[in-house]
Amino acid sequence: MPRRIVWSVLALAWFALGCGADERAASSGSGAEKKIVEPDGGRATRELTSFGKDQTEPHEIAEGVYQAWAVGNTNLVATREGDVLIDVGLPGGAERAKEILAPVRHGKTHTIVVTHAHQDHLGGTSEWAEDGTEIIAHETFLETQRYLTELVPILMARNQVFYPEEVPDVPMNLVGGLIRRFYPQVEPTILVDDEYAFEVGGVRFEVIHTPGAEGEDSICVWLPEKKILFTGDLFGPLFPMFPNLYTIRGEKFRFAVPYIESLERVIALEPEILVPSHFEPIVGKERIRADLIKTRDAVRHVHDATVEGMNAGKDVYTLMREIRLPEELALSEGHGRVSWTVRGIWEGYVGWFQFRSTTELYDVPRWQLDSEVVEMAGGADAVAARGRAHLEAGRPLEALHFSDMALTADEGHEEALRVRLGALEVLDERNAGENHSELLWLRHRIGETREALGLSG
Ligand SMILES: [Zn+2]
Repeated sequence: MPRRIVWSVLALAWFALGCGADERAASSGSGAEKKIVEPDGGRATRELTSFGKDQTEPHEIAEGVYQAWAVGNTNLVATREGDVLIDVGLPGGAERAKEILAPVRHGKTHTIVVTHAHQDHLGGTSEWAEDGTEIIAHETFLETQRYLTELVPILMARNQVFYPEEVPDVPMNLVGGLIRRFYPQVEPTILVDDEYAFEVGGVRFEVIHTPGAEGEDSICVWLPEKKILFTGDLFGPLFPMFPNLYTIRGEKFRFAVPYIESLERVIALEPEILVPSHFEPIVGKERIRADLIKTRDAVRHVHDATVEGMNAGKDVYTLMREIRLPEELALSEGHGRVSWTVRGIWEGYVGWFQFRSTTELYDVPRWQLDSEVVEMAGGADAVAARGRAHLEAGRPLEALHFSDMALTADEGHEEALRVRLGALEVLDERNAGENHSELLWLRHRIGETREALGLSG
């Protein structure tokens, strides 16, 4: 496959690999009303695709510290012994980043720090690396890179769901294996455990392990003299926001307690500038401290409430419905959802067996009996009509369950499809664009349903 095509496919994968949010907001799928919370900067993740497009000169963060903007930024610390780069953007973006940063470079690429194994952070590594360049990553980076590469066919297929316009509509079960062969791989020369310090041209760099955010292999880079912290995706694309501790695209579990500990570590550094690898730096010691504490406390609240509920014998759906951030800890759910995190914590701790039905342990799911139940209920017409009644009463999830049953029995049942469409539209309206992943999924399903109904647009 031509490299250009591979790059463009990969360039789109970054969204699914961890970045996606939108601005406005309303309520979760459960139907409970909830206040909309905007991130401080008012940024929306969808703006990332155009972020930095007009940049012609390096953005100076501090003396000797610069950024080239793109979907994934390239961060540069120029020293008299050469350049240290922290994250290098998407595959195919290095040429432009090099042009932008050329006026402030001091010479060779001394070191590249890759904050985690996502393509929007490591993509430019091979284009930046020279003979003798040190490449630093966490010791769990290799395992993360392995599984993300091994799963390319299924992950790319999921990207098609989330990005129907951009990811080629090709059967990933057939070509995914080929894409996997071309998937960029980074070979670190230094693997960091918990901490690692180095000095280049008189500048001290401290690498610290900050798991729990966009994966176990997340690291940050601290410049103690300048009090600048490069945060990779520790905070995702928005700041502050509720972290994406469970991504519906599908990735290994991300754990709440290690994330809280990572935040504790960052708070103790008392950073004056945060430099995430998406959007602009965040400046201001007090503001940063307040938002870090709020984020830490919000995650702790959700974690502790989930554990308490589990121990009290409540089921996971009850907890998804009940657990909310208190007013003083309200954060944007543009990227991560509290309810999905609740379920992620539950299943991350005790797995998928809910102890509800013995059938959970075996390979015949309840929906396999839907056709029989629909027949007993009087056919798909009757079941779709019940779904319609729920929809009209403002219960889109119950309506969806009934339409799913009817459609399992009769795939093209028109009224069942119409009920499904109506329910999806209500959920989309309730989300109001708040959570970008939720929006993309709902819009995908709405499109499919409209197509099945022969509706245009
Ligand atoms: Zn990212």
